[in-house]
Amino acid sequence: MFLGALCGATFLELILNRSNQSLTPLESTQQALDFIHSDYLTSEQLALLNELTINGFRQHINPGFLEYRKSVTSGGGYAAVEWRATSLNTLADTRGNEYIDCLGGYGIFSVGHCNPTVVDAVEQQLHKQPLHSQELLDPLRALLAQTLAGLAPGELNYCFFGNSGTESVEAALKLAKVYQAPNGKFSFIATNGAFHGKSLGALSATAKPVFREPFQPLVPGFHHVDFGDIDDMRAKVAECAARGEGIAAIILEPIQGEGGVILPPDDYLPAVRALCDEIGALLILDEVQTGMGRTGKMFACEHYGVEPDILCLAKALGGGVMPISATIASKRIFSVLFDNPFLHTTTFGGNPMACAAALATINVLLRDDLAQQAEIKGEFLLRGLQECAKRYPQLIAEARGMGFLQALEFRDNETGYAFASEMFRRGVLVAGTLNNARTVRIEPPLTLTLEQCQQVLEHVEHVLAKLSSMVEHVSVTETSTSMLH
Ligand SMILES: *Cc1c(COP(=O)(O)O)cnc(C)c1O
Repeated sequence: MFLGALCGATFLELILNRSNQSLTPLESTQQALDFIHSDYLTSEQLALLNELTINGFRQHINPGFLEYRKSVTSGGGYAAVEWRATSLNTLADTRGNEYIDCLGGYGIFSVGHCNPTVVDAVEQQLHKQPLHSQELLDPLRALLAQTLAGLAPGELNYCFFGNSGTESVEAALKLAKVYQAPNGKFSFIATNGAFHGKSLGALSATAKPVFREPFQPLVPGFHHVDFGDIDDMRAKVAECAARGEGIAAIILEPIQGEGGVILPPDDYLPAVRALCDEIGALLILDEVQTGMGRTGKMFACEHYGVEPDILCLAKALGGGVMPISATIASKRIFSVLFDNPFLHTTTFGGNPMACAAALATINVLLRDDLAQQAEIKGEFLLRGLQECAKRYPQLIAEARGMGFLQALEFRDNETGYAFASEMFRRGVLVAGTLNNARTVRIEPPLTLTLEQCQQVLEHVEHVLAKLSSMVEHVSVTETSTSMLH
């Protein structure tokens, strides 16, 4: 329903003529419902929605968010406000600009935006029973767990469901602790550059100093070693052993995502697996970002022939429609929770709508073999990016990735940010924020077409040519300026 049609010109005029702060909470909820019910908005209404959103962020969410976005500075000082998905691989803002999504919500939109199979399943479940009674057994949770057990490598047969990647990591850490407590092993090894979430437990495994510093002391017993360096890990294990400190688990992303798409040497994960077996530590693989087909296999660990003891999934698991996470472990490990399943629980984890979304998502991933699509189209895109990197070595240090998890590493943060902004202006959404753009991630929906890959490459080429001519210009100016002194 149109905003105007629903409430008449009077309500629209009312909200257009009054600052939003003077709306009562009842009026502002009515206004929001009007927007939600609207399929199309007039340009006046779109302008209003734009203004309300920017003011809302500035005054009630966090003005800091406005500063860091390329969508703020690039379009002449406005922040782009999203309005709707326009196809599996594109979205539109409130000004009618369309973007090819090469950010993919940092990996959540693997089956595309509003994938009809996922939306339909969630819609059906929404009308049947959106959330569970908390007492009777909920069928979709059982069906999803069974499906994931069949999909996950090896003996990973038992699932705990949560609502976010952070929760899946939190559950994995707690499960490892419960399992290892009788063995007197309480410590964890994680890696530098790792990202596992920001709750106090998950943050203890996350490495980035700025996220950790204000929250010290974190959970004790976490040690960080260099990612990809098995000798560093062995040295840390020996150092802990010398102090009588047992390692409960080693936690890793098979490929570091937030850390800038860092691929380990091919023999790294098998070596970590062997080390875990040697010292009786559990291997937790955080595939929150790399899982569900992203890297060209259903799970990235399959590239390396390694089976973890605990596997963490989230992001794409809900098909870009519902938030859901899973922590999957073998019976040997998970059975420590059999006596008391209430030792670790969450009200909304594994709810019927989320499970419906995950089941439909897995159906689409398998039906369309999106993992293989990611491998094939990912290789095409990456090869194009690597050619660009070769042509513009003064701008780009490296283009790397696996499947549709890719990154362009620039020579410096400013160049990366300028690249991300220019791409945005040209209608391609890539990662890269003001203070974190040296490595720009490219994580499109796995449904991105070859034609769209080609279009993206053409935009990349244009932007790099432009930036490169600017760099030459700047260095000439700098030289001439320095000659004046
Ligand atoms: C995003 C991410 C998380 C955190 O997931 P949230 O859903 O944001 O809580 C954890 N681990 C990895 C590897 C991630 O990429």
